[in-house]
Amino acid sequence: MTKSKNDKYTARNFRDESNSRSHYVGRFAPSPSGPLHYGSLVTALASFLDAKHNKGKWLLRIEDLDFFRNSRSASLEIQKQLKGFRLIWDDEVLFQSSSTLGYSEALKQLADSTYLCSCNRKESRPIYNGNCRKNGADKTKSTALRLMISQDKLSFKDAVFGHLQWKGLEDLGDFIIKRKDGVFAYHLAVVVDDLNQKITHVVRGSDLLDSTPRQLDIYKKLGLNPPKYCHLPVIVDSNNFKLSKQSFAKKVDPEKAVTILRLALTDLGQIIPRTENHQHLLEQAIKNWNVERIPKKLTTKAPKMLL
Ligand code: GLU
Repeated sequence: MTKSKNDKYTARNFRDESNSRSHYVGRFAPSPSGPLHYGSLVTALASFLDAKHNKGKWLLRIEDLDFFRNSRSASLEIQKQLKGFRLIWDDEVLFQSSSTLGYSEALKQLADSTYLCSCNRKESRPIYNGNCRKNGADKTKSTALRLMISQDKLSFKDAVFGHLQWKGLEDLGDFIIKRKDGVFAYHLAVVVDDLNQKITHVVRGSDLLDSTPRQLDIYKKLGLNPPKYCHLPVIVDSNNFKLSKQSFAKKVDPEKAVTILRLALTDLGQIIPRTENHQHLLEQAIKNWNVERIPKKLTTKAPKMLL
């Protein structure tokens, strides 16, 4: 009997039940390029509330593959801030940098759909034109590995934005799954980790909306089921830039947890509990959490005091 792609991949990397996940498992997956700012706190809070409202687990994954941009001190600071806000995760923290074996295995499974690419970033924008797919890579240059995106329509139903659809080649283009510097790229890592952690629900910012069809294509090629997705309005500054370390976003202070959590709940369209007690506030917020109240918009301006 020949094994299907699915059997092969599951047997090597994931526990038996990995493709029949039923109970809710959510996650927060920050890149430790700096401490938590208001934008990342809103994502952490929404994913926490969605998991706890659904009586599920909420996991913390530190996405630290990019060792040039990430730091151990930021990762420790993020954990300290989450604890200060009483957003307490279940199980052990997963550090992406410690789980690269699964990425190599996934790459092997995807090998038939990949090709080497020597194009630089500029040549790949806005949508990669498939130059190295057609003409082969310039082997005198360093090369990345690209995945041939499906020709089919890639679609999913987002919990906030509803039914969304992209044309693989036209709207997205082939994308990198292993970088020129040898680092596994975000899309591959996130799929493998979500599978390994048996994530059933992904709650994250709308800046990652068009990452989702790329990740869905990887699931499809591996023959495995994707999680459900919920994208939130991204928190932006007064110039409409996403809050980030680069935009000098202020770190959120757990001493002001109640005030900040109230602001975050407001931005997530939720009912604001009356209580001033931190624990009660969270308990009420879990009880009242309603995805349908999340505003259907791509961005929300950060409150001035948190910029
Ligand atoms: N690490 C990504 C970020 O900090 C989030 C990835 C995800 O949620 O899929 O933007």
